[in-house]
Amino acid sequence: MSERIDIAVIGGGPAGLSAAVNAVARGKSVRLFSAGENPLEKAENVDNYLGFYKISGAEMMQKFRLHAESLGITPEKGRVVNIMPMGDRFLINFGGNIVEASAVILAIGVAKAKEIPGEGVLLGRGVSYCATCDGMLYRNKNALVWGLAPDAVEETNFLSSIGVKVMLVAKGERPEELNSQIPFISGAVSEVVGEDFVTAARVGDDIHRTDGIFILRSAIAPAALVPGLETEKGYIKVSRDMETGIAGLYAAGDCTGTPLQISKAIGEGLIAAQNAAKFIDKSKS
Ligand SMILES: Cc1cc2nc3c(=O)[nH]c(=O)nc-3n(C[C@H](O)[C@H](O)[C@H](O)COP(=O)(O)OP(=O)(O)OC[C@H]3O[C@@H](n4cnc5c(N)ncnc54)[C@H](O)[C@@H]3O)c2cc1C
Repeated sequence: MSERIDIAVIGGGPAGLSAAVNAVARGKSVRLFSAGENPLEKAENVDNYLGFYKISGAEMMQKFRLHAESLGITPEKGRVVNIMPMGDRFLINFGGNIVEASAVILAIGVAKAKEIPGEGVLLGRGVSYCATCDGMLYRNKNALVWGLAPDAVEETNFLSSIGVKVMLVAKGERPEELNSQIPFISGAVSEVVGEDFVTAARVGDDIHRTDGIFILRSAIAPAALVPGLETEKGYIKVSRDMETGIAGLYAAGDCTGTPLQISKAIGEGLIAAQNAAKFIDKSKS
């Protein structure tokens, strides 16, 4: 495990970058983890953010990133799959590496995908969100990857390389980069089947027997990311100070609710960072 940092920011969109910039401005050590996809990049034209008009979303994100980079903040690319509150600190599982932080700011945007039946109850009992973390458990066993994130093919190839008998389910045509011996099914998983442990997955009308299923989405539902985190209609519940119900855990941006807009995300990033910094100062005094 690396040295404990002050603040871990999860998400490299406007809210996360704003939080990171403001946490550094408060003299805190910061690492920013981001799965890498940003909805704003898709906006052809943004014209309701004060001071920027007739600008594309991609150009705007580039400016935000450059600002953060000028302060030494380089987003680390990858998915955070689990955050464990440990009382006075958090243990963050960043693609299989454990990072320790005194406070965490969730700026994870909106989790587009809803949980499928069986996913929540069988999480940790055959359902996993991280091939690198849990892959070895399925060596010489059958596993199915449901690939909804850009790194799904790479992760499936990795599972095969460590001896997992893996197949990939994803939308569209068989990806060229998928190793030729790995079976591919074009489609979507609609149910995880099993009582105590995963036994199968439903894809369309077919049931595929499997010992485990890796559901690889870019975003993970907040409540699945942090045990005990309170949500309402899928959004993280926060106070005006952007505090969640867990001490030291803050949230900002689209993940806390509407309006799903850049100005709100950036403002909440600032508030979350300032309060996380105060929380750390208070716990040290
Ligand atoms: C097409 C389009 C046009 C838009 N136009 C406008 C506009 O004109 N004006 C406006 O104000 N808003 C607009 N928006 C909305 C705006 O993009 C969002 O409000 C804004 O991006 C929210 O910022 P955020 O940082 O909260 O979340 P996001 O920008 O969604 O960033 C969240 C980040 O967290 C990362 N992440 C999520 N889960 C994890 C995890 N487990 N581990 C690591 N990283 C994770 C994601 O990859 C992403 O990088 C538009 C959105 C779209 C899609």
